[in-house]
Amino acid sequence: MRIGIPRETHDGETRVAATPETVKKYIAAGHEVVLEHHAGLLSHYPDDDYAGVGAKIVDTDQCFSAELLLKVRAPSSSELLKINSGTVVLGMLDPFDTLGIESLAKAGITAFALEAAPRITRAQSLDVLSSQANLAGYKAVLLAAHYYGRMFPMMMTAAGTLKAARAVVLGAGVAGLQAIATAKRLGAVVEASDVRPAAKEQIESLGAKFIDVPYETDEEREIAQGTGGYARPMPAAWMARQAGLVAERCKQADIVITTALIPGRPAPTLVTADTVAGMKPGSVIVDIAVERGGNCPLSVRGEVTEHNGVKLVGLTNLPGMVATDASALYARNLLDFMKLIVDKDAKLAINLDDEIVQACLMCANGEVKRKN
Ligand code: NAD
Repeated sequence: MRIGIPRETHDGETRVAATPETVKKYIAAGHEVVLEHHAGLLSHYPDDDYAGVGAKIVDTDQCFSAELLLKVRAPSSSELLKINSGTVVLGMLDPFDTLGIESLAKAGITAFALEAAPRITRAQSLDVLSSQANLAGYKAVLLAAHYYGRMFPMMMTAAGTLKAARAVVLGAGVAGLQAIATAKRLGAVVEASDVRPAAKEQIESLGAKFIDVPYETDEEREIAQGTGGYARPMPAAWMARQAGLVAERCKQADIVITTALIPGRPAPTLVTADTVAGMKPGSVIVDIAVERGGNCPLSVRGEVTEHNGVKLVGLTNLPGMVATDASALYARNLLDFMKLIVDKDAKLAINLDDEIVQACLMCANGEVKRKN
């Protein structure tokens, strides 16, 4: 099969969907690979490295005429015009973007959104949300350290002792757990909150303190379990008790990293404007959830703002700030997914009995096939 690797055109996107390592494997498996000139440049994978493993470097139109395209972001409207009906597209296509998926269907594309993969053991190696969130959690802490005017670790020097930074991490999924681990490694004192009861043990195993918001009803306890590994929106009463506790913890904190998400919904508000007003000048909030509306209503997408001396970092695409590694992991996720839709003769063989393939299929033959 002819696989195309376009250069991403989404504003600020630095990642690429295949690396020389994965291209080498596609070619060894019998595929032909065409790479758009400079597709890997912003991830520091030069054309020569792809050509060295057998890829053909081509122009935009030649690349988009491939039978299967490996993308990071969903094709833009101008990219859609270049894609032939019947082309297979793999990427992070945003399964909840109804209009976007409809436009892919209308273009006759067979589209797979890898974010929709179920959270089962067999899908771990192709879990793009995990591979990218892990890096986002790490980078969020480094951004916090960058914007914070003080040190993270406790330091005893001849000129006096510096206190360790206090960090609060809200949402302890993949990104949050990596943020906890990174903040601990830098020497901060860390506490964290999540709705899911399973998160308590994970937070504590990383040496952080769990901010406990006890469940008061069976309904709260039941909803907190989530579905398929993901959180569900908690009842208003629980959210109000959490907001009170979070406000109290944030007042003491120097660093707040927010990562809380609920699939298909706007991110829950965890740090209110009043909470920000009560925080110490010089403290820093990094809102990783900003692309989904943010965990703080004051976050501005793509910007760093300041409120009474509190810096609020709303920068987006944190994985793209470590693009070489983010692309390497993402490219391996795609390589693993490809094994589910291609046979040993390098021909397309979409097995709809496979629950991962079925969940990721967004559209085919002009029809939307998305399940949720
Ligand atoms: P996510 O990105 O959807 O959400 C981030 C975190 O925010 C989650 O932990 C969620 O519980 C939390 N959250 C939502 N509302 C909140 C609120 N009001 N207050 C506090 N926290 C809130 O989730 P994720 O990081 O993708 O993963 C969630 C879970 O799934 C994790 O436990 C992870 O380990 C697990 N997981 C399992 C697999 C697998 O088994 N294959 C793969 C990946 C992740």
